[in-house]
Amino acid sequence: MLRCYRCDRSYESPERARCACGEPLWFDDVSPDATIDDAGTGLARYTDFLPVDSFPGLGLGAGGTTLYRTPRLADWAGCDLALLDETTNPTGSFKDRGSAVGVAAAMERDVEAVGTVSHGNMAMSMAATAASVGLDCQVFVPADIPPERLGYIGQYDPTVVAVEGDYGELYRESIARSADRAIEFVNSDAPTRVAGQGTTAMDVVAGFDFGGPDAIVLPASSGGHASGVWRGLLDLERAGYLDSLPQLYLVQAAACDPIASAYRRDDETVTSQVAGETIAYSIANGDPPSGNRALAAVRATDGGATSVTDDEIREARDRLATHAGISAEPSAATTLAGIRRLTASGRLGPGDEVAGIVTGTGFTEPPPTDVPEPTEIDLEEFSAYLDAELS
Ligand SMILES: *Cc1c(COP(=O)(O)O)cnc(C)c1O
Ligand SMILES: [Zn+2]
Repeated sequence: MLRCYRCDRSYESPERARCACGEPLWFDDVSPDATIDDAGTGLARYTDFLPVDSFPGLGLGAGGTTLYRTPRLADWAGCDLALLDETTNPTGSFKDRGSAVGVAAAMERDVEAVGTVSHGNMAMSMAATAASVGLDCQVFVPADIPPERLGYIGQYDPTVVAVEGDYGELYRESIARSADRAIEFVNSDAPTRVAGQGTTAMDVVAGFDFGGPDAIVLPASSGGHASGVWRGLLDLERAGYLDSLPQLYLVQAAACDPIASAYRRDDETVTSQVAGETIAYSIANGDPPSGNRALAAVRATDGGATSVTDDEIREARDRLATHAGISAEPSAATTLAGIRRLTASGRLGPGDEVAGIVTGTGFTEPPPTDVPEPTEIDLEEFSAYLDAELS
């Protein structure tokens, strides 16, 4: 059963994506008896909490990521920090959690194709997951997509359609026009995707032995991941795995921060923005489909939303590499930049257990250009070098 978080209407049809009030829907029929299957791996640990019960193809490899305690970063971050490393998902981001559930559900419906309106990690994730089960994947990209991004998506051989016109409008059309067709769109706010991405929260809470953390921090763009994390926490609470919900904090790039702006203004709903330039292009959605729901998640958990500059994002990305060994894309590094902001302002502090979600890998980015100069030696000097440096 699908339900609206805002007006509480419910719907029996699993294909419905939006409520009559206009807000996105989510699955709301997890049983209070749902249990985590400790013998399962990846998403299969949480089958009782998900609308599908098997994960064909690449879906088997999604989730089950590692929660690292990071004492080397804790001082700098200003809190008791743990990092959930989503970069190890099959295509390098948490999107694979949502694609695993979305593609599995589409196969149960016996559609001819899955579709997505994305030109970033979600497109890669959908194309790869669909390829692994032999399903056609229709990827709708904007006409001005950079060629290297087309290369990353195209390697999995989806059908790519470049669309001239307003991309936000295309997103809404994809929801409105697909209902009775043999294609299932697994967009950012699709209920199946949101359910799958809720397992991020489950991996965090399980990593804290169901006793924490105090706060979860993640970047937000469409607000789909934040919605899933909120839903996942509510489901864990319903099933008796959590006594109270951690605070949810969302981070956006200052150049495109409609959710954080609405939070600062104390607004009920998110007002769309024209996206400015930022290195965090994966989170530059000026018109977030699940923005209102993400804002509601923040309010319901007594969390917050903050924005960070590109310089802060670069610094956090470098710290993640040099102090935690994790190569993160800029959008994913906003998590750590946001945590610094939150501790600097006193919202979070040294006594707080904070889980930061590192949402996507840096391996799909051009390498940073400001790398250190190597020490140069001749081969004949090698032994002398070791003697001088390391004896
Ligand atoms: C998609 C994405 C986000 C944002 O998630 P939303 O569900 O759109 O809010 C953050 N980081 C990375 C790496 C992403 O790919
Ligand atoms: Zn509603």
